[in-house]
Amino acid sequence: MVAVVAAGTATLILRPRGGLIEPTAVQAQAYFSPAELERAEEFRGLQRLLGLGGIVLSGATLALIALRPPRKARRLLERAGEHPMRGAAVTGAGLSAVLVVVGLPLALWRHERAVDAGLSTQAVGPWLGDVAKSAGIGAVLSALGAVLALALIRRFPRSWWMPAAGAVVGFAVLTLYLSPLLIDPLFNKFEPLPQGKLRSEVVELAGRAGVDVGEVFRVDASRRTTGVNAYVGGLGHTKRVVLYDNLIDDFSERQVRSVVAHELGHVKGSDLPRGLLWVAIVAPAGTLLVQRLAERLAGRALGGAGGLEGEGRPGPAAIPAVALSLALVSFGLTCVGNVLSRQVEARADAFALRVTHDPDAFIDLERGLAVRNISQPDPPALLHKLFGTHPTTVERIGYGETFSREQRGR
Ligand SMILES: [Zn+2]
Repeated sequence: MVAVVAAGTATLILRPRGGLIEPTAVQAQAYFSPAELERAEEFRGLQRLLGLGGIVLSGATLALIALRPPRKARRLLERAGEHPMRGAAVTGAGLSAVLVVVGLPLALWRHERAVDAGLSTQAVGPWLGDVAKSAGIGAVLSALGAVLALALIRRFPRSWWMPAAGAVVGFAVLTLYLSPLLIDPLFNKFEPLPQGKLRSEVVELAGRAGVDVGEVFRVDASRRTTGVNAYVGGLGHTKRVVLYDNLIDDFSERQVRSVVAHELGHVKGSDLPRGLLWVAIVAPAGTLLVQRLAERLAGRALGGAGGLEGEGRPGPAAIPAVALSLALVSFGLTCVGNVLSRQVEARADAFALRVTHDPDAFIDLERGLAVRNISQPDPPALLHKLFGTHPTTVERIGYGETFSREQRGR
């Protein structure tokens, strides 16, 4: 309850006040051909099931290891207790590796379908290379996380959720700041937008919008995908707008302007710091819930010894229960956070329309994005409410229609 209230309150406090456009209700059929709609439904339907299947599968695996560890795993964990910190690191890295391997068949299936649909341009070899790279990064971070968690649990047996909340916030800030420097370059090449028409347009737009944009990069997304996107990332010195090369090369200038204006809207609204603030408000309640949950799970599964409430000090055997609790809690909280994300995205759209005064380009862009990314303009409502980070395409087209009508009325 505490966690739900905290997440709800944070979402309410941080929601954008004003600046939103009420979407005109539109039908997908009016903007997309039956063939386009059918293609997206056919592609996304199974992709979604495979994605959900992957989540369920990794959750079940984690639950199995935490609650009913196979005898071999239990013996390994007990032996790891002799060197608690080293054991925690190995347990963290091992858990993360096991989850990647368990999820691999479904992930490969998803990838093959994306290749067949023409969305992914990556052969299996390079794709596996990417998976291995992310798995390596995941293993290192999980090892560090597990060591930190066990150290805090041993030092503050009753109240480790407090320093853990600080660690969560610190990690979020550090990830946002460092990702553009350390992680992103491992997967893609980023070039500052070269001097030219597009760059001066971005500078002009930013000036008109009163936004310090940081740097604007072009990323070689086309090495993996035909999909189109753009995003803001980084913090402070590393703040940036990133545009996919596919977007710059294949979309009209007016459409690219709409995208850039949307991203500038995020900068103007301080949406990344806003996201961090959300994490900071929610983290203490979240880690408190993680601690309570882990105490229950570890106590039952590990019979006290090596558990969180055992006689001896907790050892690496406690890590799987903490990981499972963390996974459950962050999954639930992310769904609440998505409510805020959708509102923030809606305001960035409204901002883009007001800066560009070009609703036709905006509507064309939203249409083009959905077709290129083979996404459903009007996805199933429940799934969208839980997992949607952006308004649906029909809602976004609706913002454009409302703005267009108001513009004509003026
Ligand atoms: Zn956005």
